[in-house]
Amino acid sequence: NQQIILDNRPQGEAVESNFKLVQGTVPALQDGQVLVRHHYLSLDPYMRGRMNDAKSYAAPQPLGEVMQGGTVGEVVDSRHPKYQAGDKVVGMGGWQEYSVVDGNAPGALRKVDTTHVPLSYYLGAVGMPGVTAWYGLVKIINPKAGETVVVSAATGAVGSAFAALAKARGCRVVGIAGGPDKCRYATEELGFDACIDYREHPDLKSMARALKEACPDGIDGYFENVGGYIFDAVLLRTNAFARVALCGMIAGYDGQPLPLANPALILVNRLKIEGFIVSEHMEVWGEALAELAGLVAAGKLRPRETISEGLASAPSAFLGLLKGKNFGKQLVKLTP
Ligand code: NDP
Repeated sequence: NQQIILDNRPQGEAVESNFKLVQGTVPALQDGQVLVRHHYLSLDPYMRGRMNDAKSYAAPQPLGEVMQGGTVGEVVDSRHPKYQAGDKVVGMGGWQEYSVVDGNAPGALRKVDTTHVPLSYYLGAVGMPGVTAWYGLVKIINPKAGETVVVSAATGAVGSAFAALAKARGCRVVGIAGGPDKCRYATEELGFDACIDYREHPDLKSMARALKEACPDGIDGYFENVGGYIFDAVLLRTNAFARVALCGMIAGYDGQPLPLANPALILVNRLKIEGFIVSEHMEVWGEALAELAGLVAAGKLRPRETISEGLASAPSAFLGLLKGKNFGKQLVKLTP
């Protein structure tokens, strides 16, 4: 059972030598336990925060232990009546080939149906990132048809689901993404009405100009994934009583400062800004996943994936995700 552990904590930027590939074992199953062979690991930006030994909403990843993270796979052995060999499951198996899971632990393992939804999507559009988009849009932004909503990291796992959900509610949807390929994909495949390449607009003034053009009626809702000058530029373009779902600030995850130049606009425009953590809102997951699965089955949400091959590729793929090298949901494929 190959595993990747967190060997040491980053000093500033995360690097490959923070991780270590080790050979582990698979313990014999006890009553109530299930052995899962992982097909895909999910790589997610939040993992960067957990590599630090800092106070945050989630406890830090312990040193010397298998990197925690979402997985999908197949039950290969079971001593729990609810699970049989062959069942497809989603869980938090971590960066390793196999995991032994307590079938009685609430939420530890969930059986999934792969008839209409590919297994890997349960880590992306029809999984945690999809529910994240749903929560921010539906519960915080709560848009009316015809309103303009904007999302940063627009072509990623969260951003692409956000676009489909917002289009389904009749919004004008504007994305912000890195590079012409991602922007073309956003408008041609994901249904965005417009997409701004922030690399072409690398400062506040230029981004503000681009947003003015893409959002002629102002911005009613913003789903924030990035932080920094992009957030500032959006604030400048908000309408009165706009809502901001503060989901992520990836531009600062390696410790970069994210100063805010226009905080007075929060008052002037009477903005509602709300941070949230999707795992604290399990009550919406059923409803959100059902809508997301429906959009996938109807062909209205066609998420893209970047798949790196083999467990050993996980650290470099993860560091790439923090730099925008992924195009859509970043996964690691473990089975041939
Ligand atoms: P993505 O698939 O969107 O991948 C991350 C993307 O972030 C990259 O592809 C890149 O896109 C963009 N990015 C990276 N660095 C920068 C930077 N310096 N400036 C601007 N953009 C950058 O990841 P997810 O969809 O999984 O996550 C998106 C966001 O949602 C993250 O901030 C994450 O932390 C947050 N999140 C929050 C949750 C919550 O409960 N609050 C739950 C899940 C996710 P590009 O090339 O376009 O810049």
